[in-house]
Amino acid sequence: MENPIKPLIIGLTGGIGSGKTTVANAFAAKGIELVDADVVARQVVAPGSAALQQIVDHFGPNMLLADGSLDRAALRQRVFSHAADKDWLNALLHPLIRQKMQDELAAASSPYVLFIAPLLLENQLQSYIDRLVVVDVTEQTQLARTLLRDGGSEQQVAAIMAAQVDRTQRLAAADDVIDNSAGPEQLAPQIDALHQRYLKLAAQRR
Ligand code: ATP
Repeated sequence: MENPIKPLIIGLTGGIGSGKTTVANAFAAKGIELVDADVVARQVVAPGSAALQQIVDHFGPNMLLADGSLDRAALRQRVFSHAADKDWLNALLHPLIRQKMQDELAAASSPYVLFIAPLLLENQLQSYIDRLVVVDVTEQTQLARTLLRDGGSEQQVAAIMAAQVDRTQRLAAADDVIDNSAGPEQLAPQIDALHQRYLKLAAQRR
């Protein structure tokens, strides 16, 4: 996985509730900059953005909440049953999201940058990264931790898991794996070791 953009870009992915945020925060504590695909996707439709205005022009003012932000539930509902609307929305947002992700990755000033993308494999974003680290737990652990964090039903979480690539596919795509099946004390040494490896790889590029 080669990319022409400096600095070294490490992709971080994992299924729902696997511990991506927990792991990313540990890298951030070491001074590593993070670019989060979900955050970027929200920023491109922030209040005042050209994309939000285009969505309102296209679908009407009922796409806005009272505070002027995007009503994601209304938009999801609208495109769910209208394929042409979904295509229109994707054609608007995908180039904007991709450009902003690239800009932020290229602008990072830490020795390497962590690109957090829960759907990195599903959305085929491998060309953005130099190396992929997967946060790995069993499906039972994903389910248990997500329910503990968010509440909701087992069926809801299972449906989200079913829409994501499965554990085997994720592990097959991984260059590095962080085993998050045990407690936080198990994470630190793995993250320390990867941090050292990534610093070395970053130094080799310079
Ligand atoms: P999502 O894809 O849903 O955003 P995520 O991959 O970012 O999830 P986290 O939010 O980091 O996952 O972790 C899921 C939940 O599990 C959180 O409540 C977190 O505090 C908890 N958790 C993470 N790692 C561990 C661990 N090693 N032991 C126990 N709980 C953990």
